[in-house]
Amino acid sequence: MNQQSAVKVLFASAEAAPLAKIGGLGDVAGALPPALRQNSAGKLDIRLFLPFHAEIKRKEPQLGYLGAFSVPYRAGTFSVELYVTMVQGVRTYLLDSDVFNHHSPVYHGDPGLDGRKYASFSVALLEASRFLDWRFDILHANDWHTALAVYALKTLYKNDPFFKETRSILTIHNLPYNGYGSESAMTELGFPAGTDPDLPEWALLTPLPLGISAADRIVSVSPNYTREIQTRDFGCGLHEYLQKNNQKLSGILNGIDTKVWDPARDPLIPYPFDSTAISGKALNKAALQRELNLEENPEIPLLTVVSRFDYQKGIGLIFDAIPENVRKSWQMVLLGTGAPDLEARAADLIREYPHKIVSLLKYDEVMAHKLYAAGDIFIMPSLYEPCGLSQMIAMRYGNIPVARATGGLQDSIINYHADPDNATGFLFTEKTYEGLVSALNSAILVYRDKPTWAKLMQNAMRADFSWNASAQNYLELYRDLINQRGN
Ligand code: ADP
Repeated sequence: MNQQSAVKVLFASAEAAPLAKIGGLGDVAGALPPALRQNSAGKLDIRLFLPFHAEIKRKEPQLGYLGAFSVPYRAGTFSVELYVTMVQGVRTYLLDSDVFNHHSPVYHGDPGLDGRKYASFSVALLEASRFLDWRFDILHANDWHTALAVYALKTLYKNDPFFKETRSILTIHNLPYNGYGSESAMTELGFPAGTDPDLPEWALLTPLPLGISAADRIVSVSPNYTREIQTRDFGCGLHEYLQKNNQKLSGILNGIDTKVWDPARDPLIPYPFDSTAISGKALNKAALQRELNLEENPEIPLLTVVSRFDYQKGIGLIFDAIPENVRKSWQMVLLGTGAPDLEARAADLIREYPHKIVSLLKYDEVMAHKLYAAGDIFIMPSLYEPCGLSQMIAMRYGNIPVARATGGLQDSIINYHADPDNATGFLFTEKTYEGLVSALNSAILVYRDKPTWAKLMQNAMRADFSWNASAQNYLELYRDLINQRGN
């Protein structure tokens, strides 16, 4: 790659921080493109393509209007307006259309509506590149939402000279979310059903498996999850396909944006601190205890949860663990939204244990930062976890994770019981609340041993969770694809 022939990458995502973020995909799409740019020494022209969500409009970013273009579908065309803005040095295109955007949330939660939104966005982003006359080399799609852009290159645009040299990568952030329910939208847009004989029948009109089958390379977001998805337990019906095609599958651990998540410079926390000047952490804890009307006491371990309330996250295990542990001295703050029954259980806890537990049932960026900074122990008992960013953020803020040994949690946390000198957290394997209780008890015991706990915090805060190593791996992948094209 040299300056004259900078590799052009179209990075497609449903969300990207800080414009629109629902979960980890937003963190990744907000941080990876700038990290790739910085690590490529000017040899990469990476541009981000997003739907112009209502949430982004409300933020009123500085915009340039580039014009309107038409997208063909089976019964005619629909119109898309194109805007551009800059985010951390990355040219970011916002696509606006009544068909997939309008006043809708990032995700409707209704499979048919979301199918329509993202199937049409996936085709529109390819047409946007044509409108810009920007012949990109690599389409880097993410999750089911943009997987159909990959599939479109192999079907709707197969013989289109504009995309003749284009290669594709699909990163899987969460395999179970496969876009099932998009059939009618796909048919309206003229997508043919898949013909890959290795795919199961149900996958032939489902975005993620079609993208997986069409992509030149597939990446999953941690080495461990890459192994797991090739097994029946984690493969969501695609494990045999992934085993058979594992020559195009690799695992690259996500990183975090270490500028956004930096306890020494975080404007959203009251007292900055870092591993060399840790005293600010205790001040953050005291401030949060005051703010939430918990007993202001530095000796009581403060347990924290920042999570989508989804079964994936094992939130139920936390609720089940509480009665068993309730006589011990600790406080807990939960921040999250999601499944109504989990929210209801969290609300009950406040009534049952008003002096011990605070449930904040909302999405709140500022409160998330405060919890990472104030907490002693971060609970993340995920039933499965492709990578997980929250545990990395927590560690950076000296908030020690107690987590299930699965997926990226296992790749990013060094277990106290396996390697006490280098440990950064506590891992347990059982998918039961007893497993969680036992790991929590260990953590609380070690918390009382001040020098050992201080060492754990140092290890966790000094661990490198920046994007640099992963960005190098992605750049390598881009290089491989470009080189193969030449052969
Ligand atoms: P996932 O993508 O599966 O939700 P990750 O751990 O990869 O999980 O990323 C979650 C991201 O979303 C983290 O940045 C976390 O701080 C943030 N987050 C989750 N729930 C909330 C909430 N209620 N308020 C603020 N931020 C949240």
